[in-house]
Amino acid sequence: MIVAKLQKPKFVFMGGQLRSWEEAFIHVGCEAAIRGLNVFEGLKGYWQADGTFGLVQLRRHYDRLCRSARVLQIPFDQSYEEFTKAIDLLVGALIEPGRDMWVRATLFVTEGHWGEDTVADLILTAYHQDRHLPEPVELGVSTWRRSADVALPARVKTGTNYQVARLARIEGRAHGCQDMVLLNPWGRVAEATASCILIVRDRTVLTPPAAEGALESITVDIIEQLAHSLGIKFERRPIDRTELLVADEIGLCGTLHELPVAKSIERLPLSESSPVLCALQARYLDAVRGASPHAAVELTTLPSVKAAAKQQISP
Ligand code: PMP
Repeated sequence: MIVAKLQKPKFVFMGGQLRSWEEAFIHVGCEAAIRGLNVFEGLKGYWQADGTFGLVQLRRHYDRLCRSARVLQIPFDQSYEEFTKAIDLLVGALIEPGRDMWVRATLFVTEGHWGEDTVADLILTAYHQDRHLPEPVELGVSTWRRSADVALPARVKTGTNYQVARLARIEGRAHGCQDMVLLNPWGRVAEATASCILIVRDRTVLTPPAAEGALESITVDIIEQLAHSLGIKFERRPIDRTELLVADEIGLCGTLHELPVAKSIERLPLSESSPVLCALQARYLDAVRGASPHAAVELTTLPSVKAAAKQQISP
């Protein structure tokens, strides 16, 4: 599991252009600061087997950003092409050979008050990630819960949703857990702090549907299709808390964390060999890295990254 040590990359995309990390500020008076008002996406780009650099499900991330902005009444009129161009500019400026990247695309509300005259700025930050297999995690069940759809909808990817996730991680650290499961208001499994939950029972992969309090995960959709290709049964249905304790395998699933398996749940050991989830993990990584493409994974090659890569290969 990637433990976030915040890097300070040289550039940030802000106000329609690249700025240095040191210059990337928002004002203390804006709703992004006083109410934590923002929506965001976490995207991942991988160096491909053929030497190009591909962003995974770019269109899906753009669409979800638009949906989150719509629910929170944040105007966002940038086209998909403009969004792609902005990412291309930042990633092209920061890319390093052999190092994958994750990009955080955030709409910060920089002007307006109580929903009047709302203006948001698309701010992009991008971080390097070295290649490694997702490490197995010790998992607990948090006393903190995902809120109900009528309180703070889990399908909206907004920073405020992560305040509970942060508390759950603090709680988890005190118990030696790298991540925690959040239950929904009815005591069933919702998701983890920054990824969805997969469990395996009798060789069937189960995951709670979004209506149980999970983000509408782009990675879960990929895993579902990969499972079908591998002849593994995949079902979305509510999951009781005790099903975590009797599961054959448990894993996390998300763009950034990929698919780490759990080695324990609430201190009860799980087999790290996790054959079903490890097969899906391997297939997923092969697909996103272009080693074995799959129709479920759409990779967008960024033009300026292509140019930067060429320059780095032949200086
Ligand atoms: N749930 C939460 C709370 C998350 O932060 C994430 C990561 N974006 C996910 C689930 C997984 O979503 P995705 O597969 O779209 O990255």
